Amino acid sequence: MSTILELADVAVSYGGIPAVSDVSLRVEAGSIVSVIGPNGAGKSTLLNAVMGVLPARGTIRFQGQELRGRDIESRVQAGMSLVPEKRELFATMSVEDNLRLGAFRHRAAGRASANRALEEIYALFPRLQERRRQKAGTLSGGERQMLAMGRALMARPALLMLDEPSLGLAPLIVRDIFHTITELRRTGVAILLVEQNARAALQVSAHGYVLETGRVTLQGPSAELASDPRVVELYLGHG
Ligand code: ATP
Repeated sequence: MSTILELADVAVSYGGIPAVSDVSLRVEAGSIVSVIGPNGAGKSTLLNAVMGVLPARGTIRFQGQELRGRDIESRVQAGMSLVPEKRELFATMSVEDNLRLGAFRHRAAGRASANRALEEIYALFPRLQERRRQKAGTLSGGERQMLAMGRALMARPALLMLDEPSLGLAPLIVRDIFHTITELRRTGVAILLVEQNARAALQVSAHGYVLETGRVTLQGPSAELASDPRVVELYLGHG
């Protein structure tokens, strides 16, 4: 398997206060990797650094290329996409127009290719097709998360980064979202998944990292992490 994303000693700070320190991790092409850890551990900061939203020290290599100095747009063009924690939809625009905006960011995609991508998204999320003319602001929380994921996929990324896709959703909806994440793997996209829901994240991922106060404290195959006594005690203890 080839490595699609490789971080080496990545560090990010806010006004001199470190939020992420010396993080090294790898995502193999087509695989799902999770980053779990408590609130404030630096998970969102890490994804934002990879996407180029925040400046970072260290090395971030995507498909073999060092990303230093490249802006967000060029990282999107290179094949990465981020679904931020806040989902950032256009509430007064229709579901379909929100999706089309995702393709628009990918300049190489013409209208025919955008239409094909739209069909693929609707096949993955039939719910979005049913609601395609509805305003995004009228969707339920779970549908909004699906729309945010669908929009990110319109650019046909090689790497999809998901920031807390289960945040604020009811347990049954969370199950749907994680089911979709496993389905997505079949499209060949690699996924870097940040989650406080450690149990679900470790179930869908091949490899996991535990981030605590900005540092990787544990990592390994997800099945091994899920039975590690420290992970069980701190993150899987209840239920
Ligand atoms: P959450 O699940 O709450 O999003 P997280 O693991 O994603 O947590 P981050 O949001 O990345 O954690 O935050 C990491 C640290 O950086 C925290 O101490 C947080 O207070 C701090 N931080 C985050 N954003 C900023 C900011 N814009 N300015 C200053 N400090 C920030």
